[in-house]
Amino acid sequence: MISFDKAHKLLTGIQLELIELQSISKAASAPVILDQQSVGRLSRMDAIRDQAMAQEADRRRKLELQKIEAAFNRLGSDNYGICLGCEEEIAEKRLEVDPTATLCIACASQE
Ligand SMILES: [Zn+2]
Repeated sequence: MISFDKAHKLLTGIQLELIELQSISKAASAPVILDQQSVGRLSRMDAIRDQAMAQEADRRRKLELQKIEAAFNRLGSDNYGICLGCEEEIAEKRLEVDPTATLCIACASQE
């Protein structure tokens, strides 16, 4: 069974990393303002595509942060590390790789 401290540390580490990435990418995902005179059609499409990719990355980071939030809640209510599928303990190794995991390997592979 993974210890509270270890799980907390792992979750906090990822959370800080995500928040940092989010603030860095704020600038990148700002609305595309294009100068029609100087920007060709191709680079305009590039800019739009880059923006879409930045928004997608941002969306994924938000989901990840929600998962971390949920994991902290489980940690606080003492059911962290318990599989939602079979209620067995999730292997510590698995939680080290993904501390937000809510399913054990057996249940996750059935999805
Ligand atoms: Zn399970």
